[in-house]
Amino acid sequence: MKQISEKAYAKINLSLDVIRRRPDGYHEVKMIMQTVGICDTITISKTDDKGIFLKVGDAPLPCDKSNLVYKAAEMVMQQFDIREGVEITLDKNIPIAAGMAGGSSDAAAVFRGMNRLFELGMSLPEMQKMGVKIGADIPYCVMGGTALSEGIGEILSPLLAPPKAYLLIAKPDIDVSTKFVYENLHADTLSYHPDVDGMVQALESGDLKGITDRMGNVLETVTEKAYPVIGEIKKLMKAEGAENALMSGSGPTVFGIYRKKDTAEKACAVLQKQKIAKQIFVTEFVLPEYTPEVNEIMSGEFGKKEEEA
Ligand code: ATP
Repeated sequence: MKQISEKAYAKINLSLDVIRRRPDGYHEVKMIMQTVGICDTITISKTDDKGIFLKVGDAPLPCDKSNLVYKAAEMVMQQFDIREGVEITLDKNIPIAAGMAGGSSDAAAVFRGMNRLFELGMSLPEMQKMGVKIGADIPYCVMGGTALSEGIGEILSPLLAPPKAYLLIAKPDIDVSTKFVYENLHADTLSYHPDVDGMVQALESGDLKGITDRMGNVLETVTEKAYPVIGEIKKLMKAEGAENALMSGSGPTVFGIYRKKDTAEKACAVLQKQKIAKQIFVTEFVLPEYTPEVNEIMSGEFGKKEEEA
């Protein structure tokens, strides 16, 4: 095999709570992650010349070591002492600096892709262990789907996917740095915590209303305060028929959940007319079929085996 392609899907957070700030500066989180139908494509080819040759097309992203794609490839090449080179092409569609884990998902796709291309035989947990060294969301992105994420993002429990629904995803014309948001979060004095456990139960019973009623994100206390347009988009999405609307991750992307596709599309047209967001998508929840191992996790077999072991 000389070349492979991997899809790198974006995520949203159906719920995001921060439990505490640890003495080492990391924040302990409790979040429900969900893959959605917006993706980048990573193509990796072997080259005779040694090195990592990254191409990002028109995307406003670096091609050097500061790109998470580069970092992931370099880590794999060092770990496995790979003597050949790789050319990696990143076809970017996921909004950047948006709260959708675009960079983390790209890095995760590089781990999966390099694993296949060089037949390295890494297991999913092995890739996740490598990934967490460069980004807390990467372990989740390696597997995707619906999951409860705890610790700093490395403790993952696969969950049943939500019932079918339609998503309107809108990113206003601002870039938000995750670092800025966490630095300005007062994790120990939050007056509100979303009901993450209740949402886990609602997912288990396939109760869409139970899910949408419990959507919450404590990072809104920082980002929405700094950028009121986030609140305006949420309000508009709900006025246009969303069951509920929430900021994803550290923002500024907002998503609304709709029962019907045509309601989501009509809401999309209203947002577009008002020019309130720069990037808008109508999409759905996604269960990515990455590898047989991931499929096992998705079907709950992996979790069962771990408990039995
Ligand atoms: P998260 O939800 O994990 O906080 P995000 O969606 O807010 O992520 P990203 O789009 O992943 O943010 O990128 C944040 C920053 O990381 C960007 O400003 C960019 O310069 C840098 N970056 C490095 N590599 C990538 C990449 N492959 N794709 C996107 N951004 C990258």
